[in-house]
Amino acid sequence: MKILVIGGGGREHALVWKLARDSCKPVVFCAPGNAGTAMIAENVPIQAESVKGLVGWVKRNKPDLTVVGPEAPLCDGLVDYLNAAGFRVFGPTRAAAQIEGSKVFSKDVMDAAGVPTARSAVFSRAGKALEYVRSVGAPIVIKADGLAAGKGVAVCATVEAAERAIRETMETKAFGDAGKRVVVEEFLEGEEASILALVDGKHVVMLASAQDHKRVGDNDTGPNTGGMGAYSPAPVVKDKMWPVIKEEVFNRTLAELRKRKIEYKGVLYAGLMIAPGGLKVLEFNCRFGDPETQVILPRMKSDLVPVLEACIDGTLKDSLIKWRSEAAVCVVMASEGYPGAYPKGRLITGLRQAGALKDTVVFHSGTKLVSGRPETAGGRVVGVTALGKSVSQAVAQAYRAVQRVEFQGAHYRKDIGARALRPGGKSGAK
Ligand code: AMP
Repeated sequence: MKILVIGGGGREHALVWKLARDSCKPVVFCAPGNAGTAMIAENVPIQAESVKGLVGWVKRNKPDLTVVGPEAPLCDGLVDYLNAAGFRVFGPTRAAAQIEGSKVFSKDVMDAAGVPTARSAVFSRAGKALEYVRSVGAPIVIKADGLAAGKGVAVCATVEAAERAIRETMETKAFGDAGKRVVVEEFLEGEEASILALVDGKHVVMLASAQDHKRVGDNDTGPNTGGMGAYSPAPVVKDKMWPVIKEEVFNRTLAELRKRKIEYKGVLYAGLMIAPGGLKVLEFNCRFGDPETQVILPRMKSDLVPVLEACIDGTLKDSLIKWRSEAAVCVVMASEGYPGAYPKGRLITGLRQAGALKDTVVFHSGTKLVSGRPETAGGRVVGVTALGKSVSQAVAQAYRAVQRVEFQGAHYRKDIGARALRPGGKSGAK
């Protein structure tokens, strides 16, 4: 079997790693991949955003299955093009991917479906948005409508900060056309968790819970990043919440999409805010999360290929997925200066020594092989993942492995998983 994975980050290395271990022993390709995927798959020098280039490669090389990692090609209709050419692809169509590609669309679906979410208003003129923010006050959240590489959301403590965010998004056009409209949203308090579900058009299978760490600094300080680490399971998701999440979040959303003649297949990722009063959806994503995937897939005991095939065929069921009871923790090591500007091309050492530790795997994010040696090539460089009997054991093992990896200017958070270790932080296996 021949499989193409599209993307080049930690999520894609984790996908390639899991797929390559499948009992059907597939030959795996990754476009464009990184130094990590190069060790276990064949990298294809085509960028994930190059829909035309990818369609051409698939037509020439005829993979049996294509798995799309990032949101951009999904929102640009890659799945539609490949389906039209007769290829099997895991991921939502362009229409379905709007659930992430447009926050206005996503809020409209949630409101129509009765999905619990923050109250919001949509504006296409800065003046009206400013007026509204002044009338309701702070704290308040300003979100650019379209894809903004994870940077389009501003959580504002003051009206002045919200005014600045509206001006930058709608007038200075910091995110281009993605900021033509903004969603102004009620500020929610609570603890965040991610629940990723697989969807085959009809059935929903929820994956193990996870929590990521978005801020760059310890104790959730400093600017937001793509994610500095993650752990699974997330104790904040209690056993009794699972049926509520399935019904109120996933089933309601999918029923509303069906009403709009949109069939959803692929991963539907719900970012949740959990508070004593209940849970609310912060956002939907149309793909696997990063770094969440780096802790979810190592916990999956069963093969992944049959699960992805079942999503395409409409035959998905819970019994296809078995979980390991161990917890997983991923610590991201980032380049000097990240999430601001950062240098590239710094030699990385100790990767093999770190990966040789028991129950440990180093997923590459921003790396590149130069003359056979791994160098830094992105902001987030590697995600060091470890399994353990408990989150605390997985934390200890992950940090042992982190000590072995070195590159000039490397920085990482020292408190990944700490939230799960607080009193009352125990949870079930999922
Ligand atoms: P989003 O991309 O919509 O998930 O937003 C990114 C991050 O902004 C989330 O992970 C939250 O930390 C924060 N956020 C988004 N919406 C809200 C909200 N309504 N209240 C508080 N924080 C929020």
